[in-house]
Amino acid sequence: MNQLISAIKVKNLSFYYNTQKIFQNVSMDIYQGKVTAIIGPSGCGKSTFVKCLNRMIELEGKVRVEGGVEFFNQNIYERRVNLTRLRRQVSIVLPKPNLFPMSVYDNVAYGVKILGWHPKAELDRIVESAIKDADLWEEVKNKLHKSALDLSGGQQQRLCIARALAVKPQVILMDEPCFALDPIARIKVEGLIQRLRLRSELTMVIISHNLQQVQRLSDFTALFYTNENRIGEMIEFGTTNKIFTNPLDSRTRDYISYHLN
Ligand code: ADP
Repeated sequence: MNQLISAIKVKNLSFYYNTQKIFQNVSMDIYQGKVTAIIGPSGCGKSTFVKCLNRMIELEGKVRVEGGVEFFNQNIYERRVNLTRLRRQVSIVLPKPNLFPMSVYDNVAYGVKILGWHPKAELDRIVESAIKDADLWEEVKNKLHKSALDLSGGQQQRLCIARALAVKPQVILMDEPCFALDPIARIKVEGLIQRLRLRSELTMVIISHNLQQVQRLSDFTALFYTNENRIGEMIEFGTTNKIFTNPLDSRTRDYISYHLN
């Protein structure tokens, strides 16, 4: 087996909204080039945790983080960290498509433009390549300058993934990327994630409640749970195969058998 390299190392991470503790003492490695699934009941802190990995969580108000998160050995919670750069390297796709009220082209070009000026032909190339990578080109190539909000829900979600890919992230965080989609659109997004998975340089983290999907898509799985004080904890982490076939914790076994059947 090739040696695993940590793209992100989470060290004893705890999180508070105001004074309310949401999750505590999470330590785990997110391995480069692998897909890590985060599963667990609603409200146990999965979304909050994932948004801590690129500091998006700070956009949600008065929050406090204890412990650390290292992205390729750099502590992302250090003061001098450039947040625009961090969020380019670790980008996020949310459960519901959150496109800007702009054209298909401008949505994808937006983040690229923030990073610096590109000649028009170069920008065109980046936009086309990202939309192709998101398996959307054939569907939108004649609508590039039409409003992105006129696309179907599934197309909008793949455009969000194209937007995330356009800035060449090393990690993509996906918070229930199929949440709002009908079954056909869900299959397309899942197929897209399968193809992105073949890229050895891209690391993905996916929150999902669909355990069949987790089995199909992920290499590693972390199970979060709320403890008796209603605080989230990561109770088990391992290869997806191990978590699904031979978990150590009885809560993992119960959660999986309940949700797989
Ligand atoms: P999950 O993704 O596992 O469903 P979340 O991370 O969304 O869990 O939420 C974890 C807990 O944090 C929940 O109890 C939720 O009510 C609380 N929470 C989420 N967002 C906020 C917020 N902006 N302010 C205060 N509490 C929040």
